[in-house]
Amino acid sequence: MVKENKSFTISCKCGETITVGMVDEAVGKKWDIKRSAYSSNPSVEFKSVTEVRCPECAEKERLRKYNSSDIYERLSTDYYQDKPDEFREHAIDSVGLRTHPKADKAYALAYGRGHSGGYSEVLNALQDYADLLLND
Ligand SMILES: [Zn+2]
Repeated sequence: MVKENKSFTISCKCGETITVGMVDEAVGKKWDIKRSAYSSNPSVEFKSVTEVRCPECAEKERLRKYNSSDIYERLSTDYYQDKPDEFREHAIDSVGLRTHPKADKAYALAYGRGHSGGYSEVLNALQDYADLLLND
């Protein structure tokens, strides 16, 4: 087995630098190459090779989304995890059904359709029903 290590450094927006390694590993007689990536800091969040965040910046971004008034940004965090009533209210507001007489029915249908896929699926379904109810 032959292993070759190559490493390079990449920087977070804040200037923090980490070392990223690529390992090419020759396996068996056919010399199939297995490539795996590792970083010097296992808690670094990889978005893509060109976008990397250090743990501090990743936490800042999570907090910004958690505290955002945008329901989609909040949904990308665990904000609504133990707040089903708050999600329901925000979802109804965000699709414009706050004063609609069928808002409760629409939410119940959307919840039934989407909840197995999580709150973002419920919100997608609710948006569909809002489109039906508001555009006639
Ligand atoms: Zn950073």
